[in-house]
Amino acid sequence: MLIDAHLHCTGAETPGAVLRALDDSQTDLGVVLAPFLSAGYSMHDAASLRRANAYLADLVRGRSDRLFGMAVINPALPGAVDDLDRAIAAGLRGVKMVPSGWYPHDDRVQPVFALASRLQLPLLFHSGIFIDGRSSRFCRPVNFEALRDHPGARVALAHLSWPWTDEAIALGLIDRIHGVPDDAAAFRFDLSFGPPPAYRLQVLRRALAVLGAGLLQFGSDCFLPCSGADIRERRGWLEDLLDELEVDTPARERLFHGTAAAWLGLQPPERPADAGPALPDLPESVRNEGLPPARATALAMRRPHRAPGWLMGRPAAAAGLRASGSAWQRCC
Ligand SMILES: [Zn+2]
Repeated sequence: MLIDAHLHCTGAETPGAVLRALDDSQTDLGVVLAPFLSAGYSMHDAASLRRANAYLADLVRGRSDRLFGMAVINPALPGAVDDLDRAIAAGLRGVKMVPSGWYPHDDRVQPVFALASRLQLPLLFHSGIFIDGRSSRFCRPVNFEALRDHPGARVALAHLSWPWTDEAIALGLIDRIHGVPDDAAAFRFDLSFGPPPAYRLQVLRRALAVLGAGLLQFGSDCFLPCSGADIRERRGWLEDLLDELEVDTPARERLFHGTAAAWLGLQPPERPADAGPALPDLPESVRNEGLPPARATALAMRRPHRAPGWLMGRPAAAAGLRASGSAWQRCC
């Protein structure tokens, strides 16, 4: 099964054309985002986002086996919580947000995060630089640490946060250090390429070596309507790099399906057979004295009884450097 975890609607696509593009690219499930970058829609206009989310709900209705609809919400706008509630009631199943003019640690955006966490929605954030010249300071990975205050939040950061990929990898590493199973981790990262071609192999090698495929997922970041060939081309960029890095079949299955399936809540989270009880009887060494109560609860809920150690069983991939892919792309 193949999941494309990052596809943009624009308002110009038809359901039939979207399904054809998925069929032609052998994509089983597309995570489709409500339009917000095309004419008539704006991330800073709540009314247009309500229209966008209603439009997407219509597009995916009756097609939940192929299309996973994600609302687009600006959590800094008045009424954002109600807008999210409405979008989910209409059939959307996750949320895309783009920090611009607000930080993920701002108090004013926490109510949306809290609702998303309570509803166990997968969250997708733009992370990394904006290539249209807007300030990207809101989108640095470290700003997203605030999501750890929301127990159960399942976050994907897009583009591996380039150029702050080391910072992103460090963010994802925290759950690994504490032995949290990948599927229960707060953060995973989509490989819709933010890094330009000259960086991609190096970035992917590091991410695989430190985080493993269980915290990485493919997203084409294509803008619909597009052809299946467009999606296949983007997937090919990643496949070429995986070939160079000699990544094995189970890891590829995670990258193209397993990680996203867990993020979307399509399969029960993995749990090590010897993990023991999740909450009671935590060893003294992993209690969270000094942490704010919400953060301590979040960590305790994620942490298995015995941490396996983040270095165990994680072979570092080795490969020569050869740039792959040829183009920048819009990213958001
Ligand atoms: Zn995007």
